[in-house]
Formats: sequence, C-alpha cells, structure tokens
Amino acid sequence: MTVSPTENLFNVLDDTALILQEELSCTYLEAVAETGENLFHQGVLQDELNELTKKRLEKKYAEAGMDQISNEHIRKALQLAILKGMKQSSQPNHQMTPDAIGMFISYLAGKFTKGSQELKVLDPAVGTGNLLTTVLNGLADKKVESVGVDIDDLLIKLSYVGANLQKHPLQLFNQDALEPLFIDPVDVVISDLPVGYYPNDLRAADYELKSDNGHSYSHHLFIEQSLKHTKPGGYLFFLVPNHLFESEQAKKLHAFFKEQVYIQGLLQLPMSLFKNESSAKSILILQKKKADVKPPKEVLMANMPSLSNQKAMENMLAKMDQWFKQNK
Ligand code: SAM
Repeated sequence: MTVSPTENLFNVLDDTALILQEELSCTYLEAVAETGENLFHQGVLQDELNELTKKRLEKKYAEAGMDQISNEHIRKALQLAILKGMKQSSQPNHQMTPDAIGMFISYLAGKFTKGSQELKVLDPAVGTGNLLTTVLNGLADKKVESVGVDIDDLLIKLSYVGANLQKHPLQLFNQDALEPLFIDPVDVVISDLPVGYYPNDLRAADYELKSDNGHSYSHHLFIEQSLKHTKPGGYLFFLVPNHLFESEQAKKLHAFFKEQVYIQGLLQLPMSLFKNESSAKSILILQKKKADVKPPKEVLMANMPSLSNQKAMENMLAKMDQWFKQNK
C-alpha cells in the first residue's frame, strides 16, 4: 500500500515526537515543536540525549525526504501532529483554525489581492501558524513577507517550526498583540481572533473600541489594533463570532467601521463546522479606507454551504466570481 507524502511525514513527526516526549519528559505538543526544529536542521539539537537515541532520530529524519515534499504536505502533516497534541491539552481560544476555513480564507485573500505582486501579511493571533501558512501557500505566486504575533510561547514555536519547514519568511513576536507592536504597516491581515473579554483594562483604555463599563471584548480590540497596522487600502480577513454586530458592545464597532473601513463582505460559515450555535463564526472582510478607494457597490453577503457539498460550493463560488467582476 502506498503511503501519501502527508502520511509519511506525519509518521516521522509522530514517531520522533513520541521518542522525545519520553526522553525529555515533556508534553507531546512540546515534543512536536522540538522534533520539527530537529527536522529542519536535519540533526538532533537536544544535547542531553544519548548517542543511540540521537542515531534513531537522525535515521527517521533522513527518511522524511524533506527536499521532495510540497509545502501543503508539510503543513498538513504538521497539522495532524499538532491536532493529536491538542487533543491531549487545549483551551478553546488556543485551537488551530480548521483546515476548511483556512483554505477558504486563502482563496479569498488570493481573489482580493489578485493585482499585487508583493505583499506583507500579518496574523496578530498566529497560534500554530496553520491559518497563516495555509494563506502563504495559497499566495505562492507572489513575493510575500509575513509577520505573526501570539502570546503563547509554545504555539508561536510551532509557528516558527512550520514556517521554517515550509521556507516562508516569517517574523514572529511572542507578546500580547494588544500591547504596542513594532511592525511596519501591512497590506493584508488575516486572523482567527481570540473571542471574549480582554482582562487588561489599563491597556484597553488606549483603544477607541474599549468598553465603557467592565472588560472590553478582545476581538474588538484586535480589529482596531490590526487596522492601525494596515496600509490605507489594505484588506483584512477576520474569523469573528456570528453575533459580532449584535452584542452589547457593537454600537461603538458600527461607528468605528463607518469612519475607518469599507465592509467588503460577511460570509457566514456552515454550522457543521462548529460545536454549537454560540461558537459559530463568519468571515468578515474589510478594506481600510483610502482617498482613491471606493466602497463596493454591494457588500458580499452569503451563508456558506457545507464546504464538503461540492455542487453547492461550486454555485457559491460562481456567485462570488460574479461579485468580483462587478465590484473589484
Ligand atoms: N489561526 C491560529 C492557528 O491556525 O493556529 C489559531 C488562532 S487561535 C483561535 C487564537 C490565538 O490567539 C491563540 O493562539 C492565542 O494564544 C492567541 N491570543 C489570545 N490572546 C492574545 C493576545 N492578547 N495577544 C496575542 N495573542 C493572543
């Protein structure tokens, strides 16, 4: 039976992560980050391991055939290993963006930036880097630089490993993305935003979208922070809760959007992708205002069909193509 390149690489990552987990007494997810780094260097970086274990690992790394495997196979193999690790320990706001959503955001980013040859892309909540590298792989015909920010040091290490293995130039900042960011303005922001209350009221006070009483919504502050770091005319693609425009803090958001952006689209994702209605999400597409940029004639609004329903998906993509012809 032939094994696919994704499966072969996943087997290497899994076998070697299990060895490292045991030898280093760490979690499986930490071991995936360690083994990914070893694989990139084609050597064993953990000095504390004995020679026999190092030889076993090196043999496995050589079997991975990294010089012959495509970026998407690398990303998917890493994704499988991370998912296995996350099953053992994870919090809802730390979850990797599901592949179907990543692919769709990648498709949208490609469509909206069709005319650009060079881009700088930011993900201010980069997590494992799965969403970002999906988009970078989709934009492979352009020269793309990227920046990622995340507060979680293990997830950002996984981002770093994934970007290295896929040879994407990625600058990473391990910090609270709502603290000042030292990055140049970007052309595109993509992000699966952390949803909920932001605990740091003092920092939130610097934002227009702060709540007037109690904690502010971190997803609102992330939108404002992202816009601050986007070039005029740049596009932003956010995964947001369906109730974004209906919450008790939505009034300020409406006024802020009116002043700063053109809403390009709001695409509600199929319920089948989520555990329940309250966790269901949409893709919000914004363009930062610029003197010579006009708003779209109509906003792209849709309820997406199940992404595995090929016929319905083809119809939806045809409708979207029509929208792009009329509005872009
Ligand atoms: N797109 C990511 C991926 O594919 O792995 C998943 C993003 S996850 C839904 C949200 C991320 O926001 C988590 O990785 C979490 O650590 C990060 N996060 C939450 N609050 C943050 C903050 N204040 N600053 C930076 N990152 C934050």
